[in-house]
Amino acid sequence: MCDTEGVQTLQRGMNYRLNPNYSVILMSQRHNSPYEDKILSDDLTIEYEGHDIPKTAPNINPKLHDQPRSTKSGKLTQNGLFASAVDGFRNGKREAELVRVYEKLFAGVWSEKGFFHLKNYKYFKVGNRKVFRFFLEETEVDLSKDGFVENKLRQRSRVIPSDIKKIVWERDKGRCVLCGSIDELHFDHDLPYAKGGTSISAENVRILCARHNLQKSDKIE
Ligand SMILES: [Zn+2]
Repeated sequence: MCDTEGVQTLQRGMNYRLNPNYSVILMSQRHNSPYEDKILSDDLTIEYEGHDIPKTAPNINPKLHDQPRSTKSGKLTQNGLFASAVDGFRNGKREAELVRVYEKLFAGVWSEKGFFHLKNYKYFKVGNRKVFRFFLEETEVDLSKDGFVENKLRQRSRVIPSDIKKIVWERDKGRCVLCGSIDELHFDHDLPYAKGGTSISAENVRILCARHNLQKSDKIE
């Protein structure tokens, strides 16, 4: 789908500064996912679990070990890089890290959730081990300009819930509803919030290819 970052080929879920301007994370709310990622009830905040030690040998169970902040040689892991970004932000030394989030809908099908600010994290005991939880808040960026121009957080989320995306994906058969293209697809909430579009249901979400998605934004602006 929207593989701007080559999502299909990303090996890792956490990618600190994959792009010079932002980081990328891949999340999954699927029940068989190895991590507990979720969208909180405000619909604007993502709770993202840190990552385990790598499974380097068959007898290692990563779920029995603390999620590491650094490697044995002292190099920050992805957990450590994201946590340090939060520490810097909370100490007033830097802006909140900008993170682009993709969610796995099905095997091989990723959906872009948009841009979020990394605002907080916790490192705490669950059972016998320590895990990270990162908290990200939805934001908006204008990718068309040099650098990023961030608009203020909208009152209502643009996040389309995954269960609705699944219904729409099956109904629209994984194709642009206007031209049938199967490349560069986006979920389009076809009544913009600015024009009074309110609750998100499968009826007001459709699949568009990148070209039709762009033509549509021209019309709206
Ligand atoms: Zn199209």
